[in-house]
Amino acid sequence: MIDVSCGCGASLSVPDSMAGKEGPCPRCGTVLSVPRIETPRTRTRTRTSAEPAATLRETFAIEKVRCACGVTSARRRGEDGACPACGVALPAEAR
Ligand SMILES: [Zn+2]
Ligand SMILES: [Zn+2]
Repeated sequence: MIDVSCGCGASLSVPDSMAGKEGPCPRCGTVLSVPRIETPRTRTRTRTSAEPAATLRETFAIEKVRCACGVTSARRRGEDGACPACGVALPAEAR
């Protein structure tokens, strides 16, 4: 059986012999085209081998910032931060 869904929300199952043919929706009458059965071999390679994890780790590198009060805190490189001890703003270093 092949599952076909209509725009009206009805979902119906038609016999395999209807593959590639058209038939009316039993609910709203819209003519639906039944898709052909696909062989499972055609859809196996979908994964990508490249992992973006290394790039992300580089982008969000953590750097330590020392506040004037003496407290050292960590933040993402290039982001503005604030000292957790005294609340002083610690803007990102200009480059
Ligand atoms: Zn319908
Ligand atoms: Zn501070």
